[in-house]
Amino acid sequence: MKCQYCKGSCQKAGRQKNGAQKYFCKACKRYQQSIYRNQAWKAGTNQMIVTLVCEGVGVRSIARILKMAVNTVLQRIRRIASEIVKPAIRRHQQALEVDELRTFVGRKGNEYWIAYALNSRTGEVVDVVIGKRTKNTLRMLVNTLLLSAVKVIKTDKLSLYRGLIPASIHCYRANATNHIERKNLTLRTHLKRLSRRTICFSRSFDMLENCMKIYFWGKTYCLFRSK
Ligand SMILES: [Zn+2]
Repeated sequence: MKCQYCKGSCQKAGRQKNGAQKYFCKACKRYQQSIYRNQAWKAGTNQMIVTLVCEGVGVRSIARILKMAVNTVLQRIRRIASEIVKPAIRRHQQALEVDELRTFVGRKGNEYWIAYALNSRTGEVVDVVIGKRTKNTLRMLVNTLLLSAVKVIKTDKLSLYRGLIPASIHCYRANATNHIERKNLTLRTHLKRLSRRTICFSRSFDMLENCMKIYFWGKTYCLFRSK
């Protein structure tokens, strides 16, 4: 067999745990296999993972499509999400729409909220907070927005918001949240784990968080990374 690094000749050198034949290159002193069962080492795998996550492909589907182990997919998603930097919130924005999506983690009884803020003029998602279905989750999001000195916050008529947002900048009239309600539909269509009336939802909280991060801000990730 020819060495895949230096094209020198290789000799057989034992087997992997799974029985695959190993080879050793005398010239560059590297071990290798002629065929690899898993393909995660190939360049461009991470970009493919980002693309597939954004297309709503589940973790196990990604493992099957890219011929990787499930745990490798999880590990890569975690690493990619940790490298994505959430863009800073611009100060003094004119108006932001805030809404929450209900989803589950682990089992149907375990309800979570994905609360997020959208600038309907630019279409950008400004901030996301994922947490238990409580006022605290909304508070974390609203407080960040208040710190950015936003001029108007538009929400639906959920009474929890009235205790969190000062009345002077709070707008909850009918149709105030049309854009973000439409965005909810897009999210539920694009991401399988958010589909309603299915058995698809995240098994773990941090995977939900990581996938939302990749979906919202991962588009630029591919531009800067080669592997
Ligand atoms: Zn070699």
